[in-house]
This record gives sequence, structure tokens and C-alpha cells, in this order.
Amino acid sequence: MTQFAPNFPRHEFEASQTATRRGIDNTIPDDLLGDAAKLSWFLQELRNKINRIHRSETRARELPVIISSGYRCLELNKAIGGATKSQHSAAQAADISVPGMTSQELVEFIAKHMPNYDQLIEEFGRWVHVSIADKPRGSVLAARKVNGKTVYSPSRGRLIA
Ligand SMILES: [Zn+2]
Repeated sequence: MTQFAPNFPRHEFEASQTATRRGIDNTIPDDLLGDAAKLSWFLQELRNKINRIHRSETRARELPVIISSGYRCLELNKAIGGATKSQHSAAQAADISVPGMTSQELVEFIAKHMPNYDQLIEEFGRWVHVSIADKPRGSVLAARKVNGKTVYSPSRGRLIA
């Protein structure tokens, strides 16, 4: 399956300001396109559910899911200081946000309504890292900076799942 979901086309996963500035080719390689497409359909289902469930509860306007970082080739991942075995480099993770929802609300929504996530990390109160995997772990963490270091702890979102 390499067809991407309508609201999450391939270029949204490849786009990176850092890659553009540094002349890094962040094209998703053919062997990772299947996972990238799966991730796009996961995000499509999430977007659909947010607009069906969250919107009917809050009467909000139609909400987009914005990808701030999708695929990262190894060179790009290194350039931005990503984790060594980042799922971004396997095209299995995206950092996302939804205008009008806090990152905590988004984590809780995914934990409650998207049973197949692999890992959710609420990062610095700003965005949510979400990944998929063949054998999903269903782990929920929060990342915070403590004395300049990133510290991960279990998130409240877990209680909702
Ligand atoms: Zn991430």
C-alpha cells in the first residue's frame, strides 16, 4: 500500500525547513513508502475522528492535523539532533499538532480513540510525537526539559487509554 491519504500527501512527510536550508535530500526511499503511507492513513483516521467526535462536543470549526516533522533521512535526523534510532527515520513517526487542542488533549484523544498507536509522546507542552509499528507498544510518555536535558516520564494520557 503506497497510496497516501487525501489530507496527508507524501510531500507533507518530506517537507523540512532544515533539509531545505542545508540542501539535504529528504525524499522517502521506496522501501519505506509502505510505512509512510500507513502513517498517512493513521493520521487521516485521527483527523476524521477529531472532526467527528471532538468537534461535535466542542462545536469547533473543522480542525486540521499539522505535521511539523514527518520523515527524516539519517542526515536530517542527525542535523536536528534527533534520537539515534528515531522512528522518524523509518517513516513510522510524525510530530503533530491540532490548532485549538492542547498537546495534552491531543494525547488523551489519541489514547482513547486510536487503539493502534505505537508510542505517544507529549513533547514540551507544544506538540505530540506519534508512531505506528507492526507490534504497537501502546506507550504514552511526556517529554520535558530538566536542566537542559530531555526527561521522559509516563503521561496522564495513559490513564485514559
Ligand atoms: Zn517526533
